[in-house]
Amino acid sequence: MDLILAAIPFFFLLIFIELAYGVVRGKNTYRLNDSINSISMGSLSRLQGLVILGFSGTIYEIIVARYQLAQLPDQALWVWISCFLLYDFAYYWKHRLGHEVALFWGSHVAHHQSEDFNLSTALRQTSIDFYGFLFYLPFFFLGFPAEILFTVVSLNLIYQFWVHTEHVPKLGPFEWVFVSPSNHRVHHGRNKIYVDKNYGGVFILWDRIFGSFQEELAEEPVAFGLRKPLNSWNPVWANVHVYWRLILDFYAMPGALNKLKLLVKRPGWRADTQQSHCKLEGMPVDLTQKFDPEISRFSQVYTAIQFTLTVALSLAVLLSAGSLNYLLLSTVVTYLFFSFFVHGSFLEGREFALTLEIVRLVFLLPFLLLLDLGPVMTALLIGNSALALPLLLIAGSKRTQSLALN
Ligand SMILES: [Zn+2]
Ligand SMILES: [Zn+2]
Repeated sequence: MDLILAAIPFFFLLIFIELAYGVVRGKNTYRLNDSINSISMGSLSRLQGLVILGFSGTIYEIIVARYQLAQLPDQALWVWISCFLLYDFAYYWKHRLGHEVALFWGSHVAHHQSEDFNLSTALRQTSIDFYGFLFYLPFFFLGFPAEILFTVVSLNLIYQFWVHTEHVPKLGPFEWVFVSPSNHRVHHGRNKIYVDKNYGGVFILWDRIFGSFQEELAEEPVAFGLRKPLNSWNPVWANVHVYWRLILDFYAMPGALNKLKLLVKRPGWRADTQQSHCKLEGMPVDLTQKFDPEISRFSQVYTAIQFTLTVALSLAVLLSAGSLNYLLLSTVVTYLFFSFFVHGSFLEGREFALTLEIVRLVFLLPFLLLLDLGPVMTALLIGNSALALPLLLIAGSKRTQSLALN
């Protein structure tokens, strides 16, 4: 059973509770654009997993068949507990290398782009996790059953959900051992003192042992996000922006050894003579600034409605993926990537968003015939397109007229 998929309704419920709590207490930590962007990233991360899961499954099967040293019993409690502890240790190093090796940072950066900190930030995950499986391999060599490992991986990730909140204060002795909201706030900080600290997943002990722990300081309020901000609501760009800059640096870098160093050293490393496109150290950082382009109230409400329907469609695809053929599955996942991109374009107030939105709504119709979404969902999506398309066409023609008059 996919525990993450089962947990999704609880994630959304807790997000609404945190949002309501913040509004009632006058300490709302959510912005519409940032939350939509984070949840888009989470949805895309799960959706791309549907398309590439077969690849890692095949690798595991080969390893288990040829190289497994032993087969540990899958009913024994000690196997579960040791798997949980060892995985958290492996997670610490995976996470640490995700920050300290440029090639891996390009993937993990997705989790750190939000300049807010709330439960929706927890859902913000990469769609390009190409190196995570390396940290699973030892478990297969040692003979941990795949079901135990994947359950443990899911539990570890589910634990990390609740620590993404500003509303929980320090928790005393609890956070000597466990990752808490306070020490995970530090992990998301872009204040110089907080950068690259507190990598733990469930246990903060690893950070205390390996020297990467930093306490949250009252005199240094955490400013969330990246030292070189993303400044975009485009979830596709969010997944590739560091790699794009890494490619530019790679070509500009003199010498093969320097090119290799660029990939394996810290993000922003450069040979002395080179300018880096993604340098981190010494960069002036305005801790008060947040990316927040202004758009009309209509665009906000419209995007919120369309985004909600896209998330509902994504959930339907996640739930029915097993019954879809691969071609249809990859096509609908591509369509959903496009949809989240269009929602991001609306939030940025892009001129081309309107045209892309019309294309998006038209292209939705064939999927409604090919996917078995049930009568309610199908009627909802058709009704939405029937209302939205004329509205967008009118808005488009008004804009053309006003441009002609100017
Ligand atoms: Zn991180
Ligand atoms: Zn986090």
